[in-house]
Amino acid sequence: MLKELIDNFYKEREKNRQQTKFWITDAGRCPRMIFFKFKNAPKKGIDPRILRMFDHGDYIHRLILNALFSVGIVRASEINIPSQELISGRADAIISVGDEMYVLDIKSMNSMVFRGLEKPKEENENQLQLYLHYFKIPKGILLYVNKDTQDLREFFIEKNQEIIDALLKELQDLKNKIDSDETPAALADRSKNWQCQYCQFKDICSLIGEDNLSWDSAKNKIEALETKKEDQ
Ligand code: SF4
Repeated sequence: MLKELIDNFYKEREKNRQQTKFWITDAGRCPRMIFFKFKNAPKKGIDPRILRMFDHGDYIHRLILNALFSVGIVRASEINIPSQELISGRADAIISVGDEMYVLDIKSMNSMVFRGLEKPKEENENQLQLYLHYFKIPKGILLYVNKDTQDLREFFIEKNQEIIDALLKELQDLKNKIDSDETPAALADRSKNWQCQYCQFKDICSLIGEDNLSWDSAKNKIEALETKKEDQ
């Protein structure tokens, strides 16, 4: 009884989410997947168990922040990037240690991923680079938490203007595609890219093929698939 109620809560919350602006977490992600989110394309639901794991991750972040507040180094927490047209985002914290300020981003993961972590994950560094850019702070820390054992591992990241420029250009190009209804190409390494493994749009992505195409043509193919499913 309670499981069904809780599962439904998560399903409903997810269903009502539609993307209308870029988030920092979109930086460096598959442009086609983000495009589909903006267009509210048909997607596979996420298992409520996974959604609960995301919430659990947020809870772990707050525990870590509590400890950092207690040692007196947090200057701001859950702080939004300055408002501008392209992108929104909220960093976990800005901290100061000695004379240095850092943007802090906390990521939690299971033991298997944590143990294999020899360097920061690229997608996490991309996000942090954009925080460094928007907060005008030259250094940041990625703090990884092992959800199973509570072990910690930290990586210091320096601002890299080349990465920032490339990420902002990609997002601007994608915004132009969204505005002009041009569906971006699929990822070139679709068969082995981790993003495709977890993508909610995998079915429609295969259906419309790999290349750029107009959103109207893509929609026609998707609608034909939906009709076929209804008829079965
Ligand atoms: S399946 Fe892969 S290439 Fe296609 S939209 Fe999803 S992430 Fe992008």
